Amino acid sequence: MPGMIHHSSRLELSQSALKHNLDFLRRTIGDHPQICVVVKANAYGHGVEQFVPMAEACGVRRFAVASSGEAQSVHACLTTDSSVMIMGIMHDSNLEWVIEHGIEFYVFSLRRIENVARMAASMGRQASIHLEIETGGNRTGLEQAKLREALTIINRERRHLKLVGFCTHLAGAESLSARFRIDKQVESFFRVRKPLLRRANQPLYHVASSAAAMVRPEVRLDLVRIGTAVYGLYPSPDVHNLMLLGAKRSEDVRLRRVISWKTNVMQVREVDRDEFVGYGTYFQAPRDSRIAVIPIGYGNGYPREMSNRGNVLIRGRRAPIVGLVNMNMCFADVTNIPGVDDGDEVVLVGRQKKQEITIASFSEFSSALNTEFLSRLPADIPRHVVK
Ligand SMILES: *Cc1c(COP(=O)(O)O)cnc(C)c1O
Repeated sequence: MPGMIHHSSRLELSQSALKHNLDFLRRTIGDHPQICVVVKANAYGHGVEQFVPMAEACGVRRFAVASSGEAQSVHACLTTDSSVMIMGIMHDSNLEWVIEHGIEFYVFSLRRIENVARMAASMGRQASIHLEIETGGNRTGLEQAKLREALTIINRERRHLKLVGFCTHLAGAESLSARFRIDKQVESFFRVRKPLLRRANQPLYHVASSAAAMVRPEVRLDLVRIGTAVYGLYPSPDVHNLMLLGAKRSEDVRLRRVISWKTNVMQVREVDRDEFVGYGTYFQAPRDSRIAVIPIGYGNGYPREMSNRGNVLIRGRRAPIVGLVNMNMCFADVTNIPGVDDGDEVVLVGRQKKQEITIASFSEFSSALNTEFLSRLPADIPRHVVK
């Protein structure tokens, strides 16, 4: 069709993998804590528009984002009356919209609490706030010395401020090396919430993200904020190991990757021994070779660190990336794979026959986190929901 945009790759999102992960998390954390699914950064690259309805179909009714702008995108694709919580930046210009739509949000300064009360009063509404308290992470959070004053204001303005939650964030619960620091934070959180426990209406207490929810039962509390694990990734090898240690069989703690990324071979070419492939002298053919040109590069979210290192799947076999990953192109050596032709399916992430390219494999060559690569996937790659 003339004029129709044809994208050079596609992402597939597995509904059954998502259900598997949510069922697994529910079994792991028990019945009490609510599961709030974190969908910041375009649902960790999965695409908010597709992912939010997928999660709602699995019974999720709480979502969290990093900014008021993200809250607007998520709110626009809700299919039920799920709640949305902003854990990070709230722009003043969005405050009215946020209160109007019943979006929940973190507050971490007295000034913000006063402003919110004033705005909600002028609208004749009640704003739903989560008070984030500083416990040693030194990101955002209200200093503990100001807690008494904050609670006094919240109490005074109770017609316009609803204290929905009381929370903090741990500074790296996914790594054993942060254990000492995290223990201190947890202690501090339990100490500082004491005066709140005397209140008539208890807020939801929440601290844990994926790692802590899985391996620190004492901080599951009333709600857990889970991103990474819902998408089928372990936050770190440490967390995976701890889960394995507590399991009978490794299958019992398996998460399933929700996303797959596919494209097709653009051209197959013969390259004589000693010829260079692509820019510069980064790859010289050690033998007469067949090279598949792939229409994906770092401009499409495929990391440049994969140059001469990554692998893709073609015809059910692994083909090494050779040469530099260009802005919109890369090259795979298919000399050992018979019959590769233009248009053949290429799997960048996911399964093909018995082979698999995992997201973790992207972190092996660089300091990148598995979630870093995902969160950088361009929003314009088409996303399809599959079974
Ligand atoms: C991103 C984030 C989470 C989710 O973390 P995961 O490790 O991906 O589960 C939870 N809480 C806050 C405050 C966050 O910023």
